[in-house]
Amino acid sequence: MKPFDYVRPGERSSAHEAARDGGRYVAGGTNLIDLMKLEVMTPDTLVDISRLDLDGIETVDGGLRIGATLTNSDLAADPRVRRDYPVLARALLAGASGQLRNKATTGGNLLQRTRCPYFYDTDTNCNKRTPGSGCAAIGGETRNHAVLGASEHCIALHPSDMAVALRALDATVEVEGPDGAPREIALPDLYRLPGATPHIETSLAPGDLITAVRLPAPSGDRQVYRKVRDRASYAFALLSVGAVLRMENGRIAQAALAFGGLAPQPWRDREVEALLTAETPSDALFEKAGEVLLAKADPPPGAAFKLPLTKRVLKAVLTEATQ
Ligand code: SF4
Repeated sequence: MKPFDYVRPGERSSAHEAARDGGRYVAGGTNLIDLMKLEVMTPDTLVDISRLDLDGIETVDGGLRIGATLTNSDLAADPRVRRDYPVLARALLAGASGQLRNKATTGGNLLQRTRCPYFYDTDTNCNKRTPGSGCAAIGGETRNHAVLGASEHCIALHPSDMAVALRALDATVEVEGPDGAPREIALPDLYRLPGATPHIETSLAPGDLITAVRLPAPSGDRQVYRKVRDRASYAFALLSVGAVLRMENGRIAQAALAFGGLAPQPWRDREVEALLTAETPSDALFEKAGEVLLAKADPPPGAAFKLPLTKRVLKAVLTEATQ
């Protein structure tokens, strides 16, 4: 690991100042420290934000405001989350391990890096790690790579379970710039598709600090999170589906569906949701939803199995949510 400086400010203004000087924020460190050990990321200064007052959770406008350094364990255990946003609680508990969830934070979870194995192996080419160097995954091992939203420069997945649930729940992200100015970003606008610049993963500027995540008032009472993985725990998703639905008179009044394990960001397809809305649940409808979702899929050879898997899991999730 390369030497680095470490500061732990007690005030947000001091954190901003350290970030303006080139510091990189860290809270739980469950991904960043691993990347530093491998010298995939080599910040000169770590700015530990764990002492800032950012770990609260409060009810705002009928929804929730979740502090950026609230741990994944505490968020999953919050009674309001368990009652009104069970898709989020289940997604959190499907992620990582108990020990990691005790350290990992809301903001850090959103910004965790891909688990593409070539990204972590500095002996291989990776456009995300070293722009312009190539992509060792293309033509390599692709079981855990994207089938939607990828590019010829990068086919890596976003690994978060939590972000999938937040996408289905229409979350927004509160951010402060290095000058302390606040702004709010809708979750889909936080993430960028890889295109020709896979090393630029978010719309955040250097020194931006995520301070909170906002959830609107709960709008769907049928919530399901289903994750398919290679082993029963401590594994990233081959595929995950977060579903938030509302039924009225036997019809689907509202459907929000987000997918993990398919794309470089938590994936949502409004065409699929429009197809389902106002319809009576049926196997044929759910099968059509899978067809529409994957109409533009372009899987690498190792991930072709995800297409039939996704259709089956989506059908099962929609059946469960509408029964
Ligand atoms: Fe790097 Fe992306 Fe290629 Fe993986 S898929 S090797 S992260 S460029």
